[in-house]
Amino acid sequence: MKYFIGNWKMFGVPKSVSILNKINSYYSKDKNRNKYRVIITPPYTLIESYSKYFKNKKISIGAQNCYQKEQFSSNTAAISPFMLRSVGAKYTLIGHSDNRFEGDTDLMLKDKVKYALNNNLKVVFCIGENKTEKNNKKTLSVLKRQLTKVLEKKFNKNNIIVAYEPIWSIGTGKIPTVNELKKTTIYIKKILKQIYKKNSPGVLYGGSVDGSNVEMFKEIREIDGFLIGGASKTSKKFIDIIRNYYR
Ligand code: PEP
Repeated sequence: MKYFIGNWKMFGVPKSVSILNKINSYYSKDKNRNKYRVIITPPYTLIESYSKYFKNKKISIGAQNCYQKEQFSSNTAAISPFMLRSVGAKYTLIGHSDNRFEGDTDLMLKDKVKYALNNNLKVVFCIGENKTEKNNKKTLSVLKRQLTKVLEKKFNKNNIIVAYEPIWSIGTGKIPTVNELKKTTIYIKKILKQIYKKNSPGVLYGGSVDGSNVEMFKEIREIDGFLIGGASKTSKKFIDIIRNYYR
């Protein structure tokens, strides 16, 4: 099963649901639809209404982050996994580089993953090196640290997906070469196998994916799907990615 996950970031108002409607109609008619899932992570403000709207449809709704406490607390503006689940979220991103920049530590991320899983959310755990780390050939050691500091053996691996998003690639139009990405994906899978043995979590790629470069990723059969930022905000761009991937 492949995943096409659209991360809307700070984008969207109630009427933006029309974008998802178009994606949903494409998906419903696509002859390849049994091969993949579509998940959209709108901002918190839209999770409840979109989850209700897409309840019996093909698209699943997720959150972009969650707070590192399980249920209720006195943290102003915080939203817990329990609260997300109660309004219909099925997934949550955790560890997006935007949130790591804002101060999310490995310890916080571990709690987020733990509490999200406790509340039956599927976790899309984001990892990735920055430009300096890449230039200093530290990519693999950074990824290993990010994975092993947070993902515990006792976590429910069936509800975890890892998204590899090199920070230098997010929103820049720059993407890794096929060789680079293949090597990195295989390495991530190797680390996951060390933690989880058989049937370890799938690995997605994220960073400037669009309808024209997605065909190049087809060659890398180790990739289990894509986390898509910019190109998920219009139905045409998002559908082009799926269409060209299966062409
Ligand atoms: C992202 O922010 O998760 C992302 C992949 O963004 P973009 O596709 O715009 O690079």
